[in-house]
Amino acid sequence: MKKIGFIGLGIMGNPMAKNLINAGFDVSVFDLNESSVNKLVEAGAKASDLISMAKEADVIITMLPAGKHVHDVLEKEDGIFNNGHAGQIVIDMSSIGPTDAKNIAENAKKFGIETLDAPVSGGEPKAIDGTLSIMVGGDQSTFDKATDVLKGMGDDVVLVGGHGSGVTAKLANQIIVNLNIAAVSEALVLAAKADIDIEKMYHAIRGGLAGSTVMDAKIPLILDRNFKPGGTIAINMKDLTNVLQTAHDLDVPLPMSSQLLEIFHSLKADGKVMNDHGGIVQYYEKIANV
Ligand code: NAD
Repeated sequence: MKKIGFIGLGIMGNPMAKNLINAGFDVSVFDLNESSVNKLVEAGAKASDLISMAKEADVIITMLPAGKHVHDVLEKEDGIFNNGHAGQIVIDMSSIGPTDAKNIAENAKKFGIETLDAPVSGGEPKAIDGTLSIMVGGDQSTFDKATDVLKGMGDDVVLVGGHGSGVTAKLANQIIVNLNIAAVSEALVLAAKADIDIEKMYHAIRGGLAGSTVMDAKIPLILDRNFKPGGTIAINMKDLTNVLQTAHDLDVPLPMSSQLLEIFHSLKADGKVMNDHGGIVQYYEKIANV
């Protein structure tokens, strides 16, 4: 059975690593936060460090906040690449930009290490259920060798193209998710201001064309005033910043995404950046005085 090293055991990494243990893989873990490591050790993982993991694991997975953390863990002197071995596979499942993902793939090649960029969608609930959507960038041969590992965490595991394609597909996904939450928020605030019972309206419209996974996931939480993350506004700001950087590199104007990033900045200035992105509704409530 493959030996897996898992780095980054936060909201998403914790359940994803647990699912790999449950699937029968031999899992070693590392995180800067000791209590996060201890939770995985209780679930059957072995605590490790970057150098030992690099030497021992067949497959290394990173699930870290942003590109700079992934570069650091993989490329520093006492990191994975310098201590790993040819034929090893590194799968970065974090949501980072395509330039970072392509640079990481190029650097890995110098060590004979194969990489995939394989970000996920579905949030904490699907990470817990092991039913994440996983969009993968890289070579077909690497994908074939790593499919069993990816299937341990997700249902829809799709190779969308070469290096950087997985994270680019994730950026496209984030445009749809976040603009959808913004649209739901605008609609809810309009209805609330008109004294419509939001819960009744939700049940009236959710089966029609407006219905969406976002609507079903976020409206119940908004009605409960539950903005515990989930995916924070901070994380989604990072994604939208990568979206706009990538769009500008490709000469693609994205007027709605630009505006939404400004809304995120407004929520940040208002001290709400660590709320779930369902908290976009709080921006609309404030400007409409609801
Ligand atoms: P998180 O902040 O909960 O977890 C990140 C973990 O990485 C933390 O435990 C932190 O201690 C650890 N870490 C940071 N730097 C490290 C380092 N140098 N070495 C070792 N460990 C380090 O984040 P998350 O919500 O689990 O998100 C992880 C990634 O998944 C992000 O890129 C995010 O955009 C993406 N994502 C998140 C969600 C979501 O709903 N939370 C959904 C899909 C994708």
